[in-house]
Amino acid sequence: MHELAITQEMLDLVLAEADKVGAKEVGKINLVIGEMTGVVEESVQFYFNFLSKDTPAEGANLSFTMVPTTARCRDCDKVFELAEFDWACPDCGGNSLQITAGKELFVESIEVE
Ligand SMILES: [Zn+2]
Repeated sequence: MHELAITQEMLDLVLAEADKVGAKEVGKINLVIGEMTGVVEESVQFYFNFLSKDTPAEGANLSFTMVPTTARCRDCDKVFELAEFDWACPDCGGNSLQITAGKELFVESIEVE
């Protein structure tokens, strides 16, 4: 359910940005979403279609860049892609891990007309 709040926040930001540059129409919105956020593309798209009605962002093309979850092993410094629920370093088996990517959630850029 949190996609609704996220999408609203994203749309507000996009509209503020479009307004700032005097854009009449938003053509494309580039989003970066980390795997760990659990945000589902389809849900964002669904809420976006609904929320953007009668705004300059209506009909804008959403582009998603999904970021896999990566972690760094505190024991041996290896950086690797973290498989779901597999919290161990593939090199040394250590489980003292630091998440280095996967929590991203932001609007990277927008294209306006
Ligand atoms: Zn390790």
